[in-house]
Amino acid sequence: MTSSADLIKLEDQHGAHNYHPLPIALAEGEGAWVTDTEGNRYLDLLSAYSAMNFGHRHPRLVEATHKQVDRLTLTSRAFHNDQLGPFAAELAALAGMDSVLPMNTGAEAVETGIKTARKWGYQRKGVAADQARIIVFDGNFHGRTTTIVGFSTDDNARQDFGPFAPGFDIVPYGDAQALEAAITENTVAVLFEPIQGEGGVVIPPAGWLERIRQLCDEHNMLMIADEIQSGLGRTGYTFACEREGVRPDVYLLGKALGGGIMPLSAMVADRAVMDVFSPGQHGSTFGGNPLSAAIGREVVAMLSSGEWQQRSLDLGKHLSNALSQIDPNLIKEIRVCGLWAGVELSEAAPPAREVCERMAKAGVLCKETHSTTIRIAPPLVITPEELDHAVDVLKEALSQL
Ligand code: PLP
Repeated sequence: MTSSADLIKLEDQHGAHNYHPLPIALAEGEGAWVTDTEGNRYLDLLSAYSAMNFGHRHPRLVEATHKQVDRLTLTSRAFHNDQLGPFAAELAALAGMDSVLPMNTGAEAVETGIKTARKWGYQRKGVAADQARIIVFDGNFHGRTTTIVGFSTDDNARQDFGPFAPGFDIVPYGDAQALEAAITENTVAVLFEPIQGEGGVVIPPAGWLERIRQLCDEHNMLMIADEIQSGLGRTGYTFACEREGVRPDVYLLGKALGGGIMPLSAMVADRAVMDVFSPGQHGSTFGGNPLSAAIGREVVAMLSSGEWQQRSLDLGKHLSNALSQIDPNLIKEIRVCGLWAGVELSEAAPPAREVCERMAKAGVLCKETHSTTIRIAPPLVITPEELDHAVDVLKEALSQL
């Protein structure tokens, strides 16, 4: 078998340099564990940015995949298939909404939300042509398309990719007053992450989501929750908005929706919003394909029991407790929500990247976000003992200066 070093070299020579991965080449995965080409095992604390909430190769998801692969994989939307209707009905029921528009990647779901908000603004709110504005937030991460990076506040994500689409107003995350001040008669939507994942697991102040809801109601704007990373069990709830009992107008979902097997994203909304689209105005060759839909149906069935959300809550408490034992001098802040933590290091600690590299050598995989925060988002199948082990490895990596 080709060695990890050779595989990494090949990727370096022939792949684009748009990522900076840890120097490990993985060949197998099961549950919370992955194995590299040399047979070294690692505990996965990243879960492919929460796409692997159910762990690697969960038997129910693998079975659903095999069954569907043996029957039908792609029809395009030129024809109906026997999985899309049931998937849409079941996902809509999980979200307590009417309807679903399936896409593939998270960025496509966000683009769908943006197109919906604009069309809704012109057709239902009466905004003048091409004047629609959407409020977004400082530190946001919604994907990598040109429209989306155009309203990113990360210079590295934007630099030299302009000109960008106009129509976005950026306000500080979690600041209700700034949000209110930014609203104009042309504001058609507020697009937000209930918790900022890539931002470093940033949790907004209590009451902020509720305030967005009120402002959207008062000013006739769509409340669009990007739950691509926060949704589907990660925070201890099906949707992170449920933490505050808030129902947005639109959910954007992705990542774990495809069970870590197929790219599957979706916009979920009530009919009055969804029906801004007519045939020919949006779609994707692979969106709603029967293979993704069959896997998505199994994901929805798994989440319908509530068992995964409970696991996330219970394990999150365990993780929070374990993390609180770390030397406080090395920590600026620890933010935990469900089985999701952002460990922001102080200046006394080594750089986050170095900590992740040391942890990888000790058999635990996490990835820094920005230069000072370690994000911990293990598969929800991890055990309390495995979490304790991971935090011990983190402590050890932090203690070497
Ligand atoms: N929205 C959020 C909140 C995300 O965290 C991400 C990815 O990290 C995206 C959108 C983009 O998803 P994708 O990488 O599948 O396009």
